[in-house]
Amino acid sequence: MINVAIDGPSGAGKSSICTEAARRLGFVHVDTGALYRSIAYSAIKSGTDTNDEDSLRTLLASAKIELKFENNEQCVILNGENINDKIRTEEVSLKASDVSKIPMVRAFLLDLQRELAANGNILMDGRDIGTVVLPDADVKIFLTASPEKRAERRYNQLLEKGEETEYNNVLDKLIKRDYQDSHREIAPLKPSEDSILVDTSELSFEESVNRIVEIIEEKL
Ligand code: C5P
Repeated sequence: MINVAIDGPSGAGKSSICTEAARRLGFVHVDTGALYRSIAYSAIKSGTDTNDEDSLRTLLASAKIELKFENNEQCVILNGENINDKIRTEEVSLKASDVSKIPMVRAFLLDLQRELAANGNILMDGRDIGTVVLPDADVKIFLTASPEKRAERRYNQLLEKGEETEYNNVLDKLIKRDYQDSHREIAPLKPSEDSILVDTSELSFEESVNRIVEIIEEKL
């Protein structure tokens, strides 16, 4: 039983690369960004002012978040509702980055993430998995790519989904989110000292998955 921590900035392809690598290895892939997104979604939906401690506490107390895995796909269930289709908008992305700076939110999600990893053979992706959530993970990988490449991939994804946008707009937002994620006071995005760096700027999807699987198989 081993646990794998994969961290990196948004748009490095973490989610899709990790899903495929986990499928090949027979591991469960836990996408922790979806947990922050579910809190952001809940705050937007209920009109909660997340800067107000009491309002946020009330929101967290009423948020029952569960992850279910069906055919290797992670489903985020918020108070009984599958919200997978609702948490991938730009609005939720920015709000998720905002709420993830709040210590109360991070503490709330920490136990949930550790419980998920307790079963072993988990490939968990996020921003602080190797540094904070699973500091004893057997394999730690920092998956990244240049901001321009990441923005290009994100832009193409949005076009495919039919969302109208401009490349420069996507790049600006990504740089803003990177800055927020790596400059926050608690659990900032940074490679842990014992992580292996994988830069996917010049790698295809297939090559990226192969590299991740190769690194993990060396530890099995
Ligand atoms: O990975 P994803 O883009 O879905 O994450 C959404 C937001 O959640 C990120 O911008 C980041 O601020 C936050 N996050 C985090 N720690 C994690 C995973 C995500 O702070 N482990």
